[in-house]
Amino acid sequence: MEDFLNSFPYTYYRIGIRYVIAAGIAFLLFYVIFRRQKFFKKIQAKFPKQKDYYRDLVYSLVTIAIFTVIAHLSFVTFRSYNILIYDWNAKSGWYWLLTVAPIFVIHDFYFYWAHRLMHHPKIFTSVHKVHHLSTNPSPWTAYAFHPLEAVIETLIIPILVFTVPTHPFIIVLFMIFQIIYNVYGHLGFELFPSGFHKTKIGRYINTSVAHNQHHKKFTGNFGLYTLVWDRLFGTIRQDYDDDYEMATRKDIKKAAEAA
Ligand SMILES: [Zn+2]
Ligand SMILES: [Zn+2]
Repeated sequence: MEDFLNSFPYTYYRIGIRYVIAAGIAFLLFYVIFRRQKFFKKIQAKFPKQKDYYRDLVYSLVTIAIFTVIAHLSFVTFRSYNILIYDWNAKSGWYWLLTVAPIFVIHDFYFYWAHRLMHHPKIFTSVHKVHHLSTNPSPWTAYAFHPLEAVIETLIIPILVFTVPTHPFIIVLFMIFQIIYNVYGHLGFELFPSGFHKTKIGRYINTSVAHNQHHKKFTGNFGLYTLVWDRLFGTIRQDYDDDYEMATRKDIKKAAEAA
């Protein structure tokens, strides 16, 4: 316990600073400095209100505390039970690189089903509604969860440390990728080019438009990094292609500017 209390501030800081840097840079660029830039079109024309940013930020700070507790339990308290490999020299560079694949697939799959389950009418209000208070999400929405949802989201850490024999630093690096992609999903602007959603690979990549639709309309598009499970299990929104095209069409942008 003493060990936990001693390390809590540092672990909280490390998880928190990643969120603040990723969401902060995105917010500064797209919502402050280049707020009126013409290159990327806002997916929903309006910007969120100040109170939306503050609400998301406060919930995210609580979420980070919950992430800190679960991280400590997974990496320290139950260290002798997890299957992580702490010696870089025990495996080759290729081995470490290849372990990213199961981490990616497991997290993407876990998130899809946990998210879909949280939309069940019996638990939506008490677990997932907080995240959906932002019908027009911003970068600060990335970790805006009810504490119960924060626990569900961070269960991916114990799942990974007990299933993937990788180095703990690989999981840390992956979590940095996770927060960057998460911020992109809530950015409110589409960064992938027009037509990307119809390419062979692009069809299966989750985009900011897809997740923005989910926040605005509450149904379909449950994915995190990919749309593989949404396409496979028939939960991709029927209006995804239309909205993607609207958000990335240059002529629409000009028409919107002229109006
Ligand atoms: Zn949802
Ligand atoms: Zn979201």
